Amino acid sequence: MIVIIKQNVADEKIENLKEHLTQYFHVSISEVKGEHTTILGLIGDTAAINPDLIASNEIVESVKRVQEPFKSSNRKFHPDDTVIDICGRKIGAKDFQVIAGPCSVESEEQIIEVAQRVKAAGATMLRGGAFKPRTSPYSFQGLRAEGIEYLLEAKKATGLPIVTEIMSLAHLDLFQDVDVIQVGARNMQNFELLKALGHCNKPILLKRGLANTIEELLMSAEYIMAGGNSNVILCERGIRTFETMTRNTLDISAVPVLKRISHLPVVVDPSHGTGVVWLVEPMAKAAIAAGADGVIIEAHNNPAKALSDGAQSLNLDQFDDVMKTIKRQVEFEGKSL
Ligand code: PEP
Ligand code: MN
Repeated sequence: MIVIIKQNVADEKIENLKEHLTQYFHVSISEVKGEHTTILGLIGDTAAINPDLIASNEIVESVKRVQEPFKSSNRKFHPDDTVIDICGRKIGAKDFQVIAGPCSVESEEQIIEVAQRVKAAGATMLRGGAFKPRTSPYSFQGLRAEGIEYLLEAKKATGLPIVTEIMSLAHLDLFQDVDVIQVGARNMQNFELLKALGHCNKPILLKRGLANTIEELLMSAEYIMAGGNSNVILCERGIRTFETMTRNTLDISAVPVLKRISHLPVVVDPSHGTGVVWLVEPMAKAAIAAGADGVIIEAHNNPAKALSDGAQSLNLDQFDDVMKTIKRQVEFEGKSL
């Protein structure tokens, strides 16, 4: 962190500030004295320092971070890719995963049928919402605990690990047998939920909020990791922009950016990222080309009758075709699925 001192400040005041900074923030200071301006470089662990606190000092012109405020997820401190094991399936580095299934779990028969078909096509994990974050309180809210039971039945029938979203801390006990807990876009900054998930040892699929920056996504990962759970998978699922042709704008550039600055696996959701069924295939391909470690895709036995997100859900035959493209692209990237 760099502190730029205002012009022509008396040396004594600068010395007082240096003393305050070293004592209060436990950093050492490297000073550069120019003709009119002095610059202080703070050396040490500056992640917990609020720059505004220093900037509010009367002799300070400005404060700049030279290091990112995220530590645990930062590639600088962990150069190798993190590989997360989910029931023997690995994600990260050279290992790619395809998570597929309906937006919502609608019945036991539905989720088992979808699980069998996506598995046969080559998907490696099953998704399905039991607790659904819906814009309208009058829309289908999910089968809740019953939905998780059906997912577990589908896991029994197919062996596919299950991924499902948690919306409230109060439901955490219901997720004991869930393999990957999803934190949805709307909860990316539910800090109490993130803290609690930091104390469980399950892999967490953390989705980017609809209006959140990449750095904010990493700071949310930091909340989970700071609690001791380093099994975080980041998910780009589109952000809200002025564009209306697509439900969200899928930020493919977030993938190489995240892979460059963080060691965590990155998954892309082309279903929510576009909201348009025919865009799922090209965007999945683009995501893999950009370096993603996995994709999460909505597939439904009867999209026209889906209780949520039918318009972006592939039917099971379409999923078969999209899987062929995914397999080709994963192979082209030299990864294994
Ligand atoms: C979902 O995965 O069904 C979902 C609600 O996703 P998001 O949080 O990205 O909107
Ligand atoms: Mn959905």
